[in-house]
Amino acid sequence: MIGFILNIPYTIVGLVISLISIPTKLEFRKNPYAFMVKVKKFWWVFGYVKNARAVVIGHVVIFGSNLEDKDLEHELIHVEQYQRMPLIQPILYYIELIRKGYKNNKYEDEAYRKAGNIYKGK
Ligand SMILES: [Zn+2]
Repeated sequence: MIGFILNIPYTIVGLVISLISIPTKLEFRKNPYAFMVKVKKFWWVFGYVKNARAVVIGHVVIFGSNLEDKDLEHELIHVEQYQRMPLIQPILYYIELIRKGYKNNKYEDEAYRKAGNIYKGK
């Protein structure tokens, strides 16, 4: 719960981004606490998230329309990472991303491993 509270600033950003992405479905779940938002379009994406099927910002999971098997499980691992390392998680993630790239960073590795889904990008 403390993690959820500390992450509120990110969660608010996540909810705002959900709103501008034209939400079509909203659900709240526990364990980990997460707002699950289905949106029409990630029209604002750039860079490495361009082909993302889902994005996690704080305790908000934003899903696009091209979801695949195990994507939900994968994104919930990222929410757990936020819960484990509140406030600093996005900073840790970006440091790791800059050092190792997307595919080999330990946060993605954990998410792919625990969710059992496969990275299909290049
Ligand atoms: Zn991921």
